[in-house]
Amino acid sequence: MRCCGWHVAACGLLFSALAGAESKLTAAKPAPTVMLALDATEAPRKILHARLTIPAKPGSLTLYYPKWIPGEHEPSGPIANMTGLHFRANGQELAWRRDLLDAWTFHVDVPAGVNSVDAALDYLYPAVLESGFSSGSSATEKMAVVSWNQVLLYPAGWTSDELKYEASMRIPAGWKFASPLPVASQEGAEVRFAPASLTTLVDSPVLTGQYMRMEPTGENPPHELDLAADSAAALDGPPDFFAHQRELATQAQKLFGAYHYPHYHFLYSLSDHVAHFGLEHHASDDSRVDERGIVDPLKRKLFAGLLPHEFVHSWNGKFRRPADLATPDYQKPMQTDLLWVYEGLTSYLGDLLSARSAIRTPEEARDNLAAIAADLQYRPGRSWRNLQDTADAVPAMEDFTPTWQSWRRGLDYYDEDVLNWLWVDVLLRQQTGGAKSMDDFCHAFHGGASGAAEVKTYTFEDIVNTLAGIAPYDWRKFWSERLTNHGPGAPLTGLENSGWKLVFSDIPSDLTRATEEDREWIDSRFSLGLHLRADGGIVDTIEGLPAAKAGIGPGMKVLAVNGRKFSKNVYRDALKSARSSSEPIDLLVENTDYFRTFKIDYHDGEKFPHLERDASKPDLLSAIYTAK
Ligand SMILES: [Zn+2]
Repeated sequence: MRCCGWHVAACGLLFSALAGAESKLTAAKPAPTVMLALDATEAPRKILHARLTIPAKPGSLTLYYPKWIPGEHEPSGPIANMTGLHFRANGQELAWRRDLLDAWTFHVDVPAGVNSVDAALDYLYPAVLESGFSSGSSATEKMAVVSWNQVLLYPAGWTSDELKYEASMRIPAGWKFASPLPVASQEGAEVRFAPASLTTLVDSPVLTGQYMRMEPTGENPPHELDLAADSAAALDGPPDFFAHQRELATQAQKLFGAYHYPHYHFLYSLSDHVAHFGLEHHASDDSRVDERGIVDPLKRKLFAGLLPHEFVHSWNGKFRRPADLATPDYQKPMQTDLLWVYEGLTSYLGDLLSARSAIRTPEEARDNLAAIAADLQYRPGRSWRNLQDTADAVPAMEDFTPTWQSWRRGLDYYDEDVLNWLWVDVLLRQQTGGAKSMDDFCHAFHGGASGAAEVKTYTFEDIVNTLAGIAPYDWRKFWSERLTNHGPGAPLTGLENSGWKLVFSDIPSDLTRATEEDREWIDSRFSLGLHLRADGGIVDTIEGLPAAKAGIGPGMKVLAVNGRKFSKNVYRDALKSARSSSEPIDLLVENTDYFRTFKIDYHDGEKFPHLERDASKPDLLSAIYTAK
């Protein structure tokens, strides 16, 4: 599952620079209010119909379809799915042409005597299951997620804060809906939302469906868990699940000391026919998992970190936002160099809150941390690519296959920075004799006055200065080293100084077992260096470990082990029995229609990660995970 937030064309940069100049020139004009009427009654057919009335004056009208999507950190606005485009004024069809340098930009010829243009467009949800962020599959027979950026155009010349939209929506008969966007009125299936800036509209998705359940999970301000599913049965989570979500709101308030939303909606989609990811918004999230995501204990365990992560983004990502990610509209490219704070710190704090709110038991929280540490420990791509580059390259490299991940590196600023921010938490505690911690950083950096949503931008300097205000230390040197070092191995100093060691045993943790079972994987990355699908297909090989050294690579498929047809058990048994044998493990492998036998001289058995208590050091990790 991907979480939160891909390519820059030189022409896009050029065009945006021009748009920015235009914005400055016209900022003195009052910003127009755009009327947007959305017909979502055909969502199950995977098509939405939008009508917009856009104030205009005679001449050339430039309109944008949102391109750079907040939280996705890339130009992922699904322009290929925006269809049925027509412009009319005074009963006349108007000519339009797409910009030659930017496919998200349209130019419309507005005749004399016209002061507004009616636009019609359709948005096509993917017709077959597609992964991805909000442009992935989002509608089923029984439910849909509407992302407003997908069903609108906006005029050039103003920022998204300046432009106002009055949106309405017709939902399928008998369906309910939830959204952080305030409702002005509702008549049957017709919902009129209160006028809002374009920024707020795009930041306020609507979850709608036949089977929905809304559960209050906090007061002052109100928090609500809004579930939509493909069946009524999928809404029937255990009381503990809802109790832990309530505790999440409580623990977050204690961690940050303030909130920056008038109300918060957890929008949680439960379906096997929508894309699975989490996307943050200021006063809601848009999180999507399997239909049985809250009723199946195994899946609850797998998805335990998702809602805490997206919730933390309200403070870290939405309220406090890297200055170069806080763009004035959806046309200007985003710069992603501070995602190690935006996503990395969010991952650290999300995991911390999942433990403090009992969404994860302490053991589950440690198993999650062990999995992260082991994954980074066996990440040979660190030798050529530093952590900073994994953030810098996001707009071009976020969407790639999991093959060769250990050598290419992935979105490592999520997980590697869980280890780095843990290191910071430990250092703050050590430098102040236990008086201060990341809780103090969060109060200072994410706190302040509670109330309405606002954006307060920051730079690298603000991070090191805030840390220095909590505890004196050379934080600039610390972060420079963390962002540019090449290992070898994971940054485990913070973990080890928190009183726990990364160890490996031949027994998988419950989390490893659950992940293998749910994703139909076989994880032998830390032994043979092979990451397999349950059918023997090779997802990844770890450079330098036995399988890769023997000549095996991603994309090949294991057909037989020691002469017997491949299965998970046959493979696992072979690794176990090799411990007491001097014979190599014999793998018959298929590669582009050819068969080859590889003999691997490996006798150390299976290896799965765990954390083991180091009694020589104080147990800071347990203190970090304890509820406030
Ligand atoms: Zn995130």
